[in-house]
Amino acid sequence: MRISDRKDLLKLKRVFAVSAVSLLAVIGVILVVYIRRTPVVYEDSEAFVMGTRLRVFLASRKISADSLIENVIKEFRRIDAKFDPYREGSIIYKLNHSSGWVKVDKETFSLVETAVRYCYTTNGAFDPTIGRLIYLWGFAKFDERKNFRVPSKEEIEKALSRSGCKKVKFNEDEMMIDTGGVWIDLGGIAKGYALERSYALVKNLDPDATGFIDIGGEIRIVGPKYGRAPWVIGVRDPRGSGAIDYLYLTKGAVATSGDYERYFVVDGVRYHHILNPKDGYPARGARSVTVIADDAVTADVYSTAGFVMAKDWRYVLVHFPEIGVQVMMVLDNGKIVKSDGFEYYEKQR
Ligand code: ADP
Ligand code: MG
Repeated sequence: MRISDRKDLLKLKRVFAVSAVSLLAVIGVILVVYIRRTPVVYEDSEAFVMGTRLRVFLASRKISADSLIENVIKEFRRIDAKFDPYREGSIIYKLNHSSGWVKVDKETFSLVETAVRYCYTTNGAFDPTIGRLIYLWGFAKFDERKNFRVPSKEEIEKALSRSGCKKVKFNEDEMMIDTGGVWIDLGGIAKGYALERSYALVKNLDPDATGFIDIGGEIRIVGPKYGRAPWVIGVRDPRGSGAIDYLYLTKGAVATSGDYERYFVVDGVRYHHILNPKDGYPARGARSVTVIADDAVTADVYSTAGFVMAKDWRYVLVHFPEIGVQVMMVLDNGKIVKSDGFEYYEKQR
C-alpha cells in the first residue's frame, strides 16, 4: 500500500468516526426530547389518617410511583401516632402527663419548639398549648363526636389558666421540655408537618417527581402537572357543597381552616374546633380562611392563625403578605376579602 493510500484510509476512518458520533448525538437528543414528551402516568391513592382523607397523586420516571405513595402514607401514619396527644404511649401524651423536664428525641424537640415559636410570632393566635381547652370542648378525638359540649365558664377559666406558650420551657443542650402543666396539641400544625416531611421524602427519592399530596383539603404541590401545568384547586364554599374559587398552583402549599368541618350547634349557635386562645371559646369572625404559602407548615399554621385573627381581617390582609403568605377570608357575614397578591393564583398562566 502506498503512503497516500494509507492517508486516505485514515481520513476515511476519521470521517466515519465523526459521523458515527454525530449520529449518536442526534439520536440522543431525539430520545431525550421523546422521553420528556412522553406523558407521565400518575398513580392515585387514598388512605384514612389523622381523622381525614389522605390523597396522594404522584408520577415519577425514576422509581415506581406506587412505592413513593407507600412511603408517604407510612410517614403520615408515623407522625400521627407519634404526636397524637390523646394516644397513651405517644411522646406528646408523655409530655402532657409528666411534671418537670422530659427528655425527648430531636424531631419532637424541634416540632414542639417550632410550634411554640409560631405562638409568639402570631401573637398567641396560633397556640399549641391549649390542649386542655380542646379536650374540654370534646374536640380532642376525631371519632368521638359524642363528646362535644359547651363547657361552663368556670371550666373554661380553669383550662385557660393551664394554657399559654410562655409556660413551656426548652433545654436545647439536653433536649428536654417542661410543659409547665399545659397540654400540648399539635392539631394545627401536624398535617402541615406531615405534608412537608412527605414532600422532602419524595423529592429525595426522585427530585423530578411531580403531583400533589392532599390531607383533608390541605395540599402540598410536589411538582407541576406533566412537569409544566398548574394543578387546579377548588376552595370549598363554607356554607354549601360547591367551590367559591379555583386556585392554580405549580408549587408551594395551600391550607384552609374553617368552622364547617368539626362543629356542633346548641340553641342556634355554632361551636367549632378552632379556639380563640385568649378567651377559650371558638374563634369568631370568619367562616373560612385559605392561605397559600411556600411550604405546608406555614400554610397550616397561618390558616389557623388567620382564622383566629379574623375580626382583625384588615390587619391580616396587610400583615400576612409581608411574611410571604397570601390569604382569602370568608367573613362571618359572607363577605369575601383577599390580600393583594392572592389574585395571582386565581388565573391560569
Ligand atoms: P384542620 O385540622 O381541620 O384542617 P386547622 O389546621 O385549623 O384545621 O387545625 C385545627 C386543630 O388545631 C384543632 O382540631 C385543634 O387540635 C388545634 N387548634 C384549635 N385551635 C387552635 C389554635 N388557636 N392554635 C393552634 N391550634 C389550634
Ligand atoms: Mg392549620
